Amino acid sequence: MSIEMEMHPTITRTTCPYCGVGCGVEAIVDFGGSVTIKGDAKHPANLGKLCVKGSALGETLGLEDRLLYPTIHGQRSTWHQAVGYAADRLTGIVEKHGPESVAFYLSGQLLSEDYYLANKFAKGFLGTPHVDTNSRLCMASSVAGHRRAFGSDTVPNLYEDLDEADLIILVGSNAAWCHPVLFQRMQVAREKRGTILINIDPRRTATSEGVDLQLAIKPGMDSVLFSWLLTEIDRRGSRDDGFISKHTNGLREALEMASTIAPDINTVAIRTGLSQQDIERFVDLFLKIEQVVTCYSQGVNQSAQGSDKVNAILNCHLATGRIGKLGCGPLSLTGQPNAMGGREVGGLANMLAAHMGFSETERNRVQDFWKAPNLIQNEGKKAIQIFEAIERGEIKALWVMHTNPAVTLPRADAMRDALKKLDLFIVSEAMARTDTTSAGAHVLLPATAWGEKNGTVTNSERRISRQRSFLKPPGEAKPDWQHITLVAERMGYGQAFSYADEAAIYREHAALSALENDGSRDFDIGATADFDTQAYEEMTPFLWPYRKGQEPLKRFFSDGKFFTPDQKARFVAIADPALSAPVSKEFPFILNTGRVRDHWHSMTRTGKSIRLARHISEATLSIHPDDAAALGVVEKGLARIDSLHGVASLRVTIDDGLPRGHVFAPFHWNNSNSALARVDAVVQSNSDPVSGQPELKATPVRLSALDIKAEGFLVCRKRINLPEWLQHTRFKINEGEAIVFASVRSPAQVFSLLSNLMGEMQGKLELTDLGGADFRMVGLENDRLEAALFVQKQRNDLALDWLIECLGKTTLTAVEQQAVAAGVPPEGAVDQGGLVCSCFAVREREIRTAAENGTMSVEAIGDQLKAGTNCGSCRPEIKRILSHVQSENRTNIAA
Ligand code: SF4
Repeated sequence: MSIEMEMHPTITRTTCPYCGVGCGVEAIVDFGGSVTIKGDAKHPANLGKLCVKGSALGETLGLEDRLLYPTIHGQRSTWHQAVGYAADRLTGIVEKHGPESVAFYLSGQLLSEDYYLANKFAKGFLGTPHVDTNSRLCMASSVAGHRRAFGSDTVPNLYEDLDEADLIILVGSNAAWCHPVLFQRMQVAREKRGTILINIDPRRTATSEGVDLQLAIKPGMDSVLFSWLLTEIDRRGSRDDGFISKHTNGLREALEMASTIAPDINTVAIRTGLSQQDIERFVDLFLKIEQVVTCYSQGVNQSAQGSDKVNAILNCHLATGRIGKLGCGPLSLTGQPNAMGGREVGGLANMLAAHMGFSETERNRVQDFWKAPNLIQNEGKKAIQIFEAIERGEIKALWVMHTNPAVTLPRADAMRDALKKLDLFIVSEAMARTDTTSAGAHVLLPATAWGEKNGTVTNSERRISRQRSFLKPPGEAKPDWQHITLVAERMGYGQAFSYADEAAIYREHAALSALENDGSRDFDIGATADFDTQAYEEMTPFLWPYRKGQEPLKRFFSDGKFFTPDQKARFVAIADPALSAPVSKEFPFILNTGRVRDHWHSMTRTGKSIRLARHISEATLSIHPDDAAALGVVEKGLARIDSLHGVASLRVTIDDGLPRGHVFAPFHWNNSNSALARVDAVVQSNSDPVSGQPELKATPVRLSALDIKAEGFLVCRKRINLPEWLQHTRFKINEGEAIVFASVRSPAQVFSLLSNLMGEMQGKLELTDLGGADFRMVGLENDRLEAALFVQKQRNDLALDWLIECLGKTTLTAVEQQAVAAGVPPEGAVDQGGLVCSCFAVREREIRTAAENGTMSVEAIGDQLKAGTNCGSCRPEIKRILSHVQSENRTNIAA
């Protein structure tokens, strides 16, 4: 892509904006303005590796759909007008309804400098405690678990512990897709060192392909298994009594509760759905192997018992003293690039700033430091509570920064509708058309995006890295921190919000972390508090704490000292887990939601990459084959999914890795790129009572097969808007878009409607009515394909692939034009199946063919087709295809 730039090549060291692994990236801008992305070999988080999302960052930098100037009620305005409008109304609402009628909804995508200022403005100057973040949906249960056990939100471990562990336990984590670079690091340890991997997950996922033991636990029952482990640690004399007596409290109460939850192995087997043999193996491995790291992620956190699940895991590490040592300890894998930074600045409603809470001393310290006229006194509402208060009309003004709650909040339809009740709705966004900006925002403030922003982020191992800009901000976009300073200034707080640059904000944040901090608070980056702009610019990744006069501390708790008043860790007596929302006759299935390999959140960035779009192009519903048969739904059919809260229609994927009665759907798709595929509209919002994190993994739902009469696709150079009643998904292709759709209406009805829309396209339209239910229309102009519409009883994926290829060509030969006009793919063309390796565009059919010809290892496939040899994200899928071919071969031989 061509980008306005200075005329010399530059290499900028920055950080990937996606998951919490926090990989270092080199962005190389060449003479022509093209951006090449490489892993940064010097960054300790990834040592040069990137997953497919990180590798494709260069394809996501285009300016299409960017928000380029401010708007007020949809009308373009100047910054002066937009800021004045926001400031005047905020002032009026605070005067009329009080400061607590204002809320902020922030994001783990924000940089720490942006986050710090939003928090300072809201909690110190506006005087509202209702500041929360989409990290509440991501890792709040880990925060709560850490604080209960350690007295602080401290992640004790480092990624290098994964290289040194002999046993790695993954709980509720599809790391192969969601933290791919770390998962590949675990695979290297497995190959080189013989590290044993256990995966505890109800679902067989890509991660399951790279582990030694899969424990397909019943959903929600993780803490039963870890309670049993705790009782076995005790019964078999595997406790570290020296550590327990010197450095912990509360084991007796925790053990009593654990033995109530898990009284004997038979009960544990029934409650968890695991075999006694597997339970024994898990316990034996944990007890025999000293170097154990337990990694946990959203399957643990996104639960109505998330905090207890975290503490059940921490209890076992504390009981064996396996914490604060090389290759030992619990490691929370955070979902977002700066979820940790948000915690550090106080972006959560239950923290003040710099990991401080609401004691009088802490409040006074922060108030004096900020010179804050209106410092809040107590915790505010958490994310779900904020939106429920908007629903009730209690919160009158909301400022959303860098997140898309109309897509990602549970009960997303109700939440989106609630936004319309606001007296003032401000959105700071990089993209013009998201479900949230379309939900009645009064003021849109254009924000800079990755590649344009400057600041810091913290990854899952407490490593602070720089995100650096290498592109000029487009249009009138400004960094988010300037949105805050401009509004604060107009409200009369200019003096406290006067910063020359991001470095100045960072220095203040670092100084607050060190203020009166004699080591009693974990978060301290005081050694960097006097970094001038050049030092900030040259900052290399470092671990916190980095106290003044000291080196950065690698591993917490090696000295057995914790951040509780008596410096002892606390065992937590957890509650007996129960399914938070049991199934009923009306809603007999449980819906689990999560991510796919090549997309991120609501796809505003990953949706711009052609290759990322092709791995999984449509919103899917994975379902066990027996459930599918009972319901009468088939692979690639459409299923309707209903809950008490909403409805979606999704493309069916038969998946024997799911337990019966459970279905899985990704949450990425939304109304900007699809219709009827917004899964969080269906999801319930009941939350963990301690952390406030909603249960996104277990919504009771009803399923039904949709009687689809028409299927088809449209490939086109220009965007064509389709009606919302038509279930459809659009994705980017070379030189345009593809839209796949399905309908309960007849092909003739659908074709009639869509062909009218096609009339708006340029080009000579050739209509081919093949009779019955087979309709095709193509537009050709100047030897080039402009658009093609196919409506049939069943979708023709072969034709779709072929026409996508044709649209990408600048000219078509006469033969190709004839074929396109007739709507018939060339003779001998074969459906290549789905894209497996996004790096080298290797499709399923090629891998199957190679396997059928005897290439039966992932390495040999790599040698032959290159698949899996770059980022490695697709290696689990290659392995799965090979094992399918192998079992087909065995079946054939047996027959
Ligand atoms: Fe980015 Fe992938 Fe690294 Fe995560 S693992 S930070 S998505 S490159």
